Amino acid sequence: MPDPGSDAPERPPLIVDIKGNALDDGPGIRAVVFFKGCPLRCAWCHNPEAQRPGVELSFDPARCVGCESCLEVCGRGALSRADPGFVDRERCDRCLACAAACPAGALETVGETRSVEQVLAAVAPYRVFFDTSGGGVTLSGGEPTLFMDYLGELLRALKAAGVHTLLQTCGLFDWKRFASAALPYLDAVYYDIKLMDDDAHRSHCGASNRVILDNFRRLQAVAEGGVLELLPRTPLVPGITDSDGNVRALAEFLRGCGVHRCRLLDYNPLWPDKAAKLGAASEAARRPELRRWLERGHVARLEAILHRAGIETGGGER
Ligand code: SF4
Ligand code: SF4
Repeated sequence: MPDPGSDAPERPPLIVDIKGNALDDGPGIRAVVFFKGCPLRCAWCHNPEAQRPGVELSFDPARCVGCESCLEVCGRGALSRADPGFVDRERCDRCLACAAACPAGALETVGETRSVEQVLAAVAPYRVFFDTSGGGVTLSGGEPTLFMDYLGELLRALKAAGVHTLLQTCGLFDWKRFASAALPYLDAVYYDIKLMDDDAHRSHCGASNRVILDNFRRLQAVAEGGVLELLPRTPLVPGITDSDGNVRALAEFLRGCGVHRCRLLDYNPLWPDKAAKLGAASEAARRPELRRWLERGHVARLEAILHRAGIETGGGER
């Protein structure tokens, strides 16, 4: 299991994207900053482009016009139209010359270093929407707490500017560093709890859930003081997190923490296509149940388990 915090890079993180006018990432209209890098390796990751910390090369065959400009600039012989994935990831040294030469946007660089000042400048044009809608800035990923010093600096600057701040987190972080660097500047935390069984969590997410559940309890104690909104969320993944047993165990855990609200996140089966563009297609991407949307009736049944335990579902939207 990764040791949360100890390997956190001190350099600025790569940012995958900054999206304005988001309506489903917290209250009001928001800007969302997507960090690149996560300590978990969930097989179904909805944002595979944000999972690994380094810069990556993405290839979208639907956009390729076959001009071969990329082949001419690649000094490693890493590109071939005969290769179904187009890019030989073993040979590629991610010099990114091909992405710069591609006129069609078929080859693209994923991840860009942005200073705190650059992120502040990028979200500034959306300020009018925050102010009129009760919105703000959401920090997402990937996992922002992997870059705790940078995260703290960014949050401090946002709070100083009077912006509502929200963190979306997988919960695997060093509590002491989080409590001093980030927590004082947060208005809300949306906290993902995926699997209650530790063995299943290790198997499907690549790490134990022990630290995640401990950190949730600590955050709930803070939220009870009224200074922080805490919303637990569980992504529903067919055949992995969407069992009655997992949801029952979640309900029991939340009740034990004194929490009476959570959100079940809809499953989106489009992630394998995103992963394929990065050459990161996993075995899970070939599982038929993971290529389908969840039936509404099944989701309603899982919600009913939570309702019977006195836990409301929903929240977190505009
Ligand atoms: S990133 Fe560089 S090495 Fe990799 S395929 Fe493109 S040009 Fe070749
Ligand atoms: S440069 Fe872009 S559009 Fe041209 S062949 Fe390469 S990937 Fe396709």
